[in-house]
Amino acid sequence: MVSFVFASRNAHKAKEIADILSRTLTFDFEVLTLGDIGFEGEIIEDGKTFEENAMIKARAAFDKSGLPSFADDSGLEVDALEGAPGIYSARYASLDGRDADDEENNKLLLKNLEGVENRSARFVAAVGFIDTTESFTLRGEVEGEILHAKEGDGGFGYDPLFFCKEANRCFGTLPASEKNKISHRARAFEALATKLNKRFGAY
Ligand code: IMP
Repeated sequence: MVSFVFASRNAHKAKEIADILSRTLTFDFEVLTLGDIGFEGEIIEDGKTFEENAMIKARAAFDKSGLPSFADDSGLEVDALEGAPGIYSARYASLDGRDADDEENNKLLLKNLEGVENRSARFVAAVGFIDTTESFTLRGEVEGEILHAKEGDGGFGYDPLFFCKEANRCFGTLPASEKNKISHRARAFEALATKLNKRFGAY
């Protein structure tokens, strides 16, 4: 059995990611969180890209535990806004640098897109992995368009404003089980699982 650390304190997210990994991994594994390894400090995510931020978190977990560690960093990129909110997605509408309310972030996004015709956008997730022999990053994306008003109240973050081309539906109306098959996070973690099978498949 291989123990991995997912550099997050969110047990719910760790469970979602373990479910995604279990669809592809061919060996026994467990996913520990920062709480499980007794990590108490704060991780400063001051990278300039999703990949840099994912790697900062993965490295912090690896330095503390010595176990193979991974982390993700995700957000929304809107073409007409030159990629914003991007790595600042969680704190887009924030005035003090802390995470803002989903409602406030969505309101600001609609305001900044008032009168804008090109509404193409994508959700991006980067995964960073590090252990004693290698470190790498991987990326998953899902394409869509920003709606003019919210649809549905499912999901979180920008889901109610994101019309997913592939699902032909707004993420706000898509059941979690469907979203988790095609999401940027699912894609990034499926790519990670494919790589991990090559490394750990014999265990
Ligand atoms: P984090 O990677 O969990 O820090 O996510 C950063 C931010 O990006 C979140 O707070 C959301 O605003 C946005 N985001 C990331 N993934 C999703 C998603 O699947 N749906 C909606 N918003 C998302």
